[in-house]
Amino acid sequence: MTSGTKSLSGKVALVTGSTSGIGLGIARCLGEQGADLMLNGFGEAEVIGALRAELARDLAVRVEYDGADLSQPAQVAELVRRTGATLGGPDILVNNAGIQYTAEIKDFPAERWDAVIAVNLSAAFHAMQAAIPGMTGKGWGRIINIASAHGLVGSAQKSAYVAAKHGLVGLTKVAAIELANTGVTVNAVCPGWVLTPLVQAQLDARAAREGSDIEAVKRALLAEKQPMTQFTTPEGVGGLVVFMCSDAARTMTGAPLSMDGGWVAT
Ligand code: NAD
Repeated sequence: MTSGTKSLSGKVALVTGSTSGIGLGIARCLGEQGADLMLNGFGEAEVIGALRAELARDLAVRVEYDGADLSQPAQVAELVRRTGATLGGPDILVNNAGIQYTAEIKDFPAERWDAVIAVNLSAAFHAMQAAIPGMTGKGWGRIINIASAHGLVGSAQKSAYVAAKHGLVGLTKVAAIELANTGVTVNAVCPGWVLTPLVQAQLDARAAREGSDIEAVKRALLAEKQPMTQFTTPEGVGGLVVFMCSDAARTMTGAPLSMDGGWVAT
């Protein structure tokens, strides 16, 4: 397929938290369809530079990087502005960056609560606020919020994360209603377990706590929540995001879509 025939050629995608895990998988899938990419997230400059070069070479799209800290509202708005200044758009905004902290409410440090809400929920609001005028001006846009099965159901010890993800699903619905006849759709993806550094940290902590090996902990983690005992992959989530960007999905809006091995079916 030449770049001229790819479904997202000429579009610019900003994917927050795309130096790792699910965000990187989504960026790769959007780039494979011809979208130019603005990467964001933390990491070592050398590693990120190599990633940028690899994606640009393999996918034949423009790839830029911005290290904005999404816990800071002004930096979120600036990230959107700089995307427009360097690449154009963004036509596609994927609010993916997220952090986790686990503790019971009685022990949950207030500053951890604030940090999880800032990155997992407020950053999506600030990015949408900054990106929507450009999208409505063009009459086309796609906003995809990476929520979680925890956007639909709760789990112990994850008060801030579950509150943020439920909030993100609610924000998705409100934006979808407000933008219904503008050519801009707003949807959420609610993945189950995806084996990324964010989940690996939880596996490592549990293995240390229980004195079990990692493979046993993986099996237990999956079986506790999901009827289907398989991890979802970043590329699987990326495939769904690509579909949400397609013309076939133009009337899909305000939807929290699960990809979770049956987690919320139980
Ligand atoms: P990850 O830790 O692999 O990646 C998180 C990304 O966000 C990284 O690029 C990181 O640098 C970036 N990031 C973190 N804080 C940031 C900040 N303040 N500013 C800018 N970037 C920041 O995690 P992941 O598992 O790929 O998670 C991605 C998203 O998917 C998160 O929103 C997470 O809640 C959600 N999710 C993950 C799972 C899972 O099982 N892994 C399941 C459901 C939902």
